[in-house]
Amino acid sequence: MRHLFGSARCKERSYPINLPSASIILCFYNEALSTLLRTVHSILDRTPAYLLHEIILVDDRSDFIELKNELEKYIANNQLKKVKLIRNVMREGLIRGRMVGSSHATGDVLVFIDSHCEVNEMWLQPLLAPIKEDHSTVVCPLIDIINADTLIYSSSPIVKGGFNWGLHFKWDPVPVSLLNGPEGATEPFKSPTMAGGLFAINRDYFNKLGQYDSGMDIWGGENLEISFRIWMCGGQLKIVPCSRVGHIFRKWRPYGSPGGVDTMAYNSLRLSHVWMDEYKEQYLSLRPELRKQSYGDISERLELRKKLNCTSFKWYLDNVYPEMEVNGPNGKSKIQPPLFINKSPKRSKILQRGRLYNLQTSKCLAAQKYPDQKGGKVVVKECDWTDSNQVWIYNEEHDLILANLLCLDMSETHSSDSPRLMKCHGSGGSQQWTLGVNNSLYQISAGQCLKVIDPDNPKGYVAMAICDGSRSQQWKLDN
Ligand code: UDP
Ligand code: MN
Repeated sequence: MRHLFGSARCKERSYPINLPSASIILCFYNEALSTLLRTVHSILDRTPAYLLHEIILVDDRSDFIELKNELEKYIANNQLKKVKLIRNVMREGLIRGRMVGSSHATGDVLVFIDSHCEVNEMWLQPLLAPIKEDHSTVVCPLIDIINADTLIYSSSPIVKGGFNWGLHFKWDPVPVSLLNGPEGATEPFKSPTMAGGLFAINRDYFNKLGQYDSGMDIWGGENLEISFRIWMCGGQLKIVPCSRVGHIFRKWRPYGSPGGVDTMAYNSLRLSHVWMDEYKEQYLSLRPELRKQSYGDISERLELRKKLNCTSFKWYLDNVYPEMEVNGPNGKSKIQPPLFINKSPKRSKILQRGRLYNLQTSKCLAAQKYPDQKGGKVVVKECDWTDSNQVWIYNEEHDLILANLLCLDMSETHSSDSPRLMKCHGSGGSQQWTLGVNNSLYQISAGQCLKVIDPDNPKGYVAMAICDGSRSQQWKLDN
């Protein structure tokens, strides 16, 4: 196992001795016992005992048999005195599950962490220090990547949290100045949103801020809801690059919700109606079918917003997330095109033209079937230097246009889908790509990079993934 740090400078930093104590809350549903224990042991091994008040495990009514007696015996036999196990009587979902955990906690600071993580060395002190300084600062560690297939730990680049108008969380690049400052990338920096699985918050502040929206079910949306609430109601959210925690990113969530409800949409509707003011239109115009869908009673959350004297969503966008593009009626500029009015491709200046060559497979990105098929997938194929159907144009608008016909597009509402060829809409977002550092092909709305899924598979499937600079994610636009 390798222990990686973002910056060697992190080792030079020191932290006060008298930091607040931490209650670590781990809510789990059908987690593999070995994975759950890896998380718990990494915390026990790498947290100074005087800072570790307790670890609270909340079993969200898992079915796995190994999580029953075997887990209890393990805790008892190994005398894990700081580990407390709470069993939910009903499946509550991660949002109410974490609230159950926090209601049992007695430490100064709550640290929420997913059940498939490995905390790194010196992970906790860098999180506690900014909270000690300011109670209304909420902090996230940098989330390293544990490969879901191999369990290999690798470090992540330094990025911050954002979102798109489909209300999906995404990673955004941070300014280079921040990375190259005198301190290197060691100083906590502001982030518009959090990914959700990992953060630390003063316990009294969590309660004062209204915990979570207990009307939200199972999974999804709660991370944007608490991010907006923190910023709009007087707090701040930061990422601490010297605190690193590995998380297993899975390709699919291995569980559903009771009744198969799309809880992400339900929860997002709730948060858009409580927090987003007129900007909820940005979401609803992407998901018109949700206009008629019920989202339960939000009156308590609206009252909370009033009681805490929170600012407007416009203030949040202007001050915390100014890079977010607003289209249509909420937009700042009248010249901007309205959402979803398809236009013919703009006559925008061509920056580069050529084949999109993947460095790992030595293959070229092309249409799976026909380059003029709307909604068609793209895959990597043997490069054919005579075939004009493999030629991409990269223009000033950051569009990638294949064979002069369709644009490479990544759906903002179904971020787990693979990228497709769609009519060029010329309004950025889902069709905006950057050929960036490490030869990456970065998609702005998704906050992810294009990769070849399996270099040995002749089908050549590609997908979006967290940018990690690996060779499967390296592309060259060449003649
Ligand atoms: N979880 C839970 N109950 C649920 C769904 C999820 O307790 O109904 C737990 C899950 O075991 C994990 C955490 O909540 O520890 C976050 O879920 P997950 O890791 O699946 O979300 P992701 O990281 O994929 O966003
Ligand atoms: Mn997770």
